[in-house]
Amino acid sequence: VTSWQDKNITVAGLGVSGLSAARALAGLGARITVVDGGDSATHRARAAELESEGIAVRLGDADTLPDRTELVVTSPGWKPSSPLFQAAAEAGVDVVGDVEIAWRLRGPDAPPWLAITGTNGKTTTTRMLASILTAAGRRTAAVGNIGTPIVDVVLQGDAYDVLAVELSSYQLHWAPSLRAHSAAVLNLAPDHLDWHGSMDAYAADKGRVYEGNTVACVYNAADPATEDLVRAADVEEGCRAIGFTLGTPGPSQLGIVDGILVDRAFVANRQKNAQELAEVSDVTPAAPHNLANALAAAALARAYGVEPAAVRDGLRAFRPDAHRIEHVAEAGGVTYVDDSKATNTHAAEASLAAYESVVWIAGGLAKGATFDNLVKKSAQHLRGVVLIGADRALIREALARHAPEVPVVDLDRTDTGAMEAAVREAAALASAGDTVLMAPACASMDMFADYTRRGEAFAAAVRELADGRA
Ligand code: ADP
Repeated sequence: VTSWQDKNITVAGLGVSGLSAARALAGLGARITVVDGGDSATHRARAAELESEGIAVRLGDADTLPDRTELVVTSPGWKPSSPLFQAAAEAGVDVVGDVEIAWRLRGPDAPPWLAITGTNGKTTTTRMLASILTAAGRRTAAVGNIGTPIVDVVLQGDAYDVLAVELSSYQLHWAPSLRAHSAAVLNLAPDHLDWHGSMDAYAADKGRVYEGNTVACVYNAADPATEDLVRAADVEEGCRAIGFTLGTPGPSQLGIVDGILVDRAFVANRQKNAQELAEVSDVTPAAPHNLANALAAAALARAYGVEPAAVRDGLRAFRPDAHRIEHVAEAGGVTYVDDSKATNTHAAEASLAAYESVVWIAGGLAKGATFDNLVKKSAQHLRGVVLIGADRALIREALARHAPEVPVVDLDRTDTGAMEAAVREAAALASAGDTVLMAPACASMDMFADYTRRGEAFAAAVRELADGRA
C-alpha cells in the first residue's frame, strides 16, 4: 500500500484525467504541483480554482521538474520524449498515468478489471462488455479512456462488482503495475506513431495490457500480431490464451458457425460441442468488424464466468455510440451512413468492407498515414469518391494509382460548409441501392472541432437533402 501523505507529486497538464488524479491524491494528503506550459486566461482561471483547493499550479513552464518531486503523474497528450519526463528520468523519479494511480488506489476487495485495447473498436467493445455484464446482473461501469475518470470510479470503492476498462496505448505506456483479470487486444494497425516513436514501441505498449493477467488473454486470430503479444507477456499460472475468429473456432477460441456466435473455449470438458452464445443478427451493426468486437466482449465476459444467455441479452441490448457506422437516413433508395469516428485508415477499411456499393466521402488530416493499402482493398466496393479536407491529395493520388476507373470529385475545400457540398456531390454519384458512407480515414481537426462535429455536419446535410426529396 502506497502512503500518499506528504508525498510531493507533480502533475503534468491541466487536463481532465490529470486533474482528477491531482484532486484524489491531494485528498489523501499528497502535496500536488500541477505544471502546464500554457498561460492563457483559461489556464489562469483553472489555476485559481485549484489553488483555492490547496493545489499549487505553475503555468508557463512545462519543462523543468519542480524541486523535491517524488512522483510525476502525466496526461495522455504528453509525449514520452517531453523534457519534463527526461528531467524526471535523470532525477530517478517515476512517471505514471492516471490509470496507474487508479490501480494503486484500489483497496483489497476492489472489483477486478476486464481490460480492452487495440487500434480500433475499443469504445464499442468496452460498452458491449458492460452491456453483457449488466445483463448478467453484475454491477459494472465502462471506464478508462471513456466515461468518468477512472480514479474517481476506483474511489467509489465497492459500488461495482467488476469494471470494463478501455485503455489507450498512452495509458498502458504509463501503467506499469496494472494487472487485469483478463484483457483483449482487438487489433493492431499503425496509429499514433508520432507519439510512440515506432510500430514496435506502439505494439509493446498495447501488449502491456496482458502483463500479469490471471484468467485469460484474448487475442484476434485474424491478427497474428495480437497473438504474438500474448506469447510475449508474463502472465499468472493457469491464465489461458483465448482467440476470436469470424470463422469456425478452434479449441480455446470463440467464432461464428452458420450465423451463430459460438464459444469453444469455456465449455466444460465433457461437452463436445461448442456453446451457442447469440445470433449474428443480435449484433448491431452486424458488420464483420463489429462481430469481432462482439466476440472479444463475449470472450472477456465468459472468462469472468458470465452465462451464455446473458451474453445474448447484453449484445441485443447494445446500441453503438453516435458517429460509429450510424445509419442517418435513406433518400432516393440511397442509404446515408455516418462513420465520422473512422479517423484512421484501418477503421475506414473496416466500414468500407461492410457495404457492397459505396460512394465514399473521405479526407481530413492524415496524421502521417498512407492510403495505398486502404484504396487497394476497398476499390471493388467504390462507386464514387468525394474528397474534402487538408490532406485529400494523398487519397486522390492513391485512387489514381489503384482505382483509376472510380469517379472522384475533389472539392478542394477545407471550410465547414464543404460537408454540405460533399453530401450533394455524393448523392449525385449514387444510384438506388448504394450507400453514401462518410468514413474519412483521417482526423477532423482541419475542418471541425472534433469527429463529433464532423458527424453532425454530415447528418444535418443529409437530413436537408432527404427533406428536399421527400
Ligand atoms: P476506438 O475506441 O478504438 O477509437 P470505436 O469503438 O470508437 O474505437 O470505433 C472507432 C471506429 O473504428 C468505428 O467508427 C469503426 O469505423 C471502426 N471500428 C470499430 N471496430 C473496429 C474493428 N474491430 N476493426 C476495425 N475497425 C473498427
